[in-house]
Amino acid sequence: TILTPKNNKANILLMGLRRGGKSSICKVVFHNMQPLDTLYLESTSKPTTEKFHSLIDLSVMELPGQLNYFEPSYDSAKIFSQVGALVYVIDSQDEYLNALTNLSMIIEYAYKINPLIHIEVLIHKIDGLSEDYRLDTQRDIMQRTGDELLDLGLEGVQVSFYLTSIFDHSIYEAFSRIIQKLVPELPSLENMLDNLVQYSRLEKVFLFDVNSKIYVATDSSPVDIQTYEVCAEFIDITIDLDSLYENGDQARPAIKDEVKCISTLQNGVTLYLRQMIRGLALVALVRVDNEGDVYGGDKIEDEENGNYYQSCRDKNLQQSLAIIDHNVNVFKQGLEKVWEHSRIRS
Ligand code: GDP
Repeated sequence: TILTPKNNKANILLMGLRRGGKSSICKVVFHNMQPLDTLYLESTSKPTTEKFHSLIDLSVMELPGQLNYFEPSYDSAKIFSQVGALVYVIDSQDEYLNALTNLSMIIEYAYKINPLIHIEVLIHKIDGLSEDYRLDTQRDIMQRTGDELLDLGLEGVQVSFYLTSIFDHSIYEAFSRIIQKLVPELPSLENMLDNLVQYSRLEKVFLFDVNSKIYVATDSSPVDIQTYEVCAEFIDITIDLDSLYENGDQARPAIKDEVKCISTLQNGVTLYLRQMIRGLALVALVRVDNEGDVYGGDKIEDEENGNYYQSCRDKNLQQSLAIIDHNVNVFKQGLEKVWEHSRIRS
């Protein structure tokens, strides 16, 4: 059946009450659907599975809200024993007490079968709440969940909470963090990225899954959501340009081999994108504006073309980029090795 994925930890189970936003999340994050188009999605009525082949082979199982997971036709014990993360979606714009009862019931069951399972709670649709109210809601949900788990004698269970919405990047950020917990190679990837940052004068670097715009790893400096947004948008722009030159023979082709794109923003930050392996792209922020003569006194102004313009004319930047190119080549080879020895693959 569709509910028996082979490999263990990379499976994600998406659950939550009806109309909570599960299908929308899958469509937006993994199928590039525009958030507004989810308004007319039919509610999930049967379990569905999505497979993603990135650095890890990921599958997302979506269980419909109404499904009674103790129903004999679903081998729920088997399902829970095979997932790495349970992602529970709570509609924050709705009355959520029922959802919290449902959540703690599921946690109790899941934890009994699989004590290693990561429990991740999306406090979803926060776009409809004011800033203050978001934090109040989060506090309330965390408090009540804690109380419920205490009543069940499960106070030791770790539960992570994320404020999410499909209308901004918060849903991608949440999924990035959830998926990173399932990548066993994460420490070595982070290490490699830290080295890259250090030796290439990068400000920040992400390893993205191109299709979903989830980042599977980043260097150890803190993630600022705006930096993430800029990098994610740069992927879209690169893909669009790439398909433009492809004569658009496919609606949205994956980035092909050897794709590389460099662009300097008006604030002097340069974006650097390189295609890696397995649907991954490395996107880095390079800042060379500290040396006053970066632009050779001939600062490039381009108001008509908006934020992005060609910047490779500059000598300093050229030199930095040559070093970055070299180091990224080394990184890519390292990534291939990591993949060869990957513990999770089909
Ligand atoms: P499911 O039954 O859990 O799969 O829920 P759906 O994905 O069908 O979503 C139910 C409704 O919630 C749809 O009309 C979506 O457009 C809406 N929705 C989903 N995510 C969000 C969100 O982040 N913000 C808002 N405002 N609405 C959302």
